[in-house]
Amino acid sequence: MTAHKILFLIIDGLSDRPCPELGNRTPLEAANHPVLDRLAAGGVCGIMDTIAAGIRPGSDTAHLALLGYDPRKYYTGRGPLECVGSGIRMEPGMIGFRCNYATLSPEGLVIDRRAGRIHDTADLSQAVQDGVDLLKFGVEFVFRSGAGHRAALALKGEGLGHCVSSNDPKKDHVAPLTIIPVKDQAQDKKTAEVCNEFIRQSGKILFDHPVNSERMRDGLGPANIILMRGAGEMGNFEPFDKKYGLSGSVIAAASLISGIGNAVGLTQVPVAGITGSQNSNIKGKITAAITELERKDFVLVNIKGADESGHDGLAIQKKAFIEKIDTVLGPLLDIRDCIVIVCADHSTPCSIKDHSADPVPVIIYGDGVRVDYVKEYGERACARGGLCRITGAELLPTALDLINQAHKYGA
Ligand code: ZN
Ligand code: ZN
Repeated sequence: MTAHKILFLIIDGLSDRPCPELGNRTPLEAANHPVLDRLAAGGVCGIMDTIAAGIRPGSDTAHLALLGYDPRKYYTGRGPLECVGSGIRMEPGMIGFRCNYATLSPEGLVIDRRAGRIHDTADLSQAVQDGVDLLKFGVEFVFRSGAGHRAALALKGEGLGHCVSSNDPKKDHVAPLTIIPVKDQAQDKKTAEVCNEFIRQSGKILFDHPVNSERMRDGLGPANIILMRGAGEMGNFEPFDKKYGLSGSVIAAASLISGIGNAVGLTQVPVAGITGSQNSNIKGKITAAITELERKDFVLVNIKGADESGHDGLAIQKKAFIEKIDTVLGPLLDIRDCIVIVCADHSTPCSIKDHSADPVPVIIYGDGVRVDYVKEYGERACARGGLCRITGAELLPTALDLINQAHKYGA
């Protein structure tokens, strides 16, 4: 039997280095995960450099690579993908930014880069969208609220570049910076001017806004300045269905990941209660993925919480979350007509509290795989598997071959 579909499960930041508090095992090795072990035992395993050996991937560049879009070609910054994830329709050439609402003191210093962790910014963003006017630059824009204090800005117009700095001083009690071009190019100068004008006009609107007056009456920091960073130009992504001949969907809480999915033409599937954190409705994600596979050929699911524990340096919490993930994965053992891929997008070792270049463990499970001798899912166990050591760019083609969607090279 040859399967026709692919379920691609990415457990964000899953892999790690040996942790002293776990007897020098990694959280994945120390955790009890019978379902992942059965997938490993019934599949072919390996380890993977998501981008290349020695390269520390971001989640964004890693996901691009895993979907077969070379980040060296497609990645110009986080902004455009964040815009897509916030629901902005990005066209190739538009310039995108990640934004934060922050609090500016009467003396002109940024005193809270998250504006008191404000969460409902929809009215503020609407006022900025309605009130700011950039037409003297020939520029249109879309400004949208994201989760919490976050937002996204997209600029559209002739002669705009993406090589500009940020106004975010990156720490509190410092004045916001002026955005400047980082290359001596006319298009970058223009974008910097547009950004500074956007910040000036939006600041005026926010300063007088009733939402902020009310916050100040309640003793909360007003969201009266927009900090922007991560400028990038939206790339021209070949749609996933054209590239691979497969219809596809993405299930992810993080707008960056769903944004990448949307950018390449995957349909975003909403799931109630997903947070991108340890308390996320991960059971709902798996159920939704299986339902989605009834009408789509490819579904990518990202589960985020383990990355969070890695960033916080909490090995025991990470182990517990991996065990929690395992309890919802049972249905993967029984999906018919489907190749299941399980991997991480990068390692997030608790010892360094950030992403590392350590290769991640991979399983490919389903009809036709050459089952190897690996019996458990772990960083070291998978290194003995039949896939050996591959790159992220090789993973999806390997699965495509198993479902007979790979093109023959030569006669
Ligand atoms: Zn990640
Ligand atoms: Zn991370």
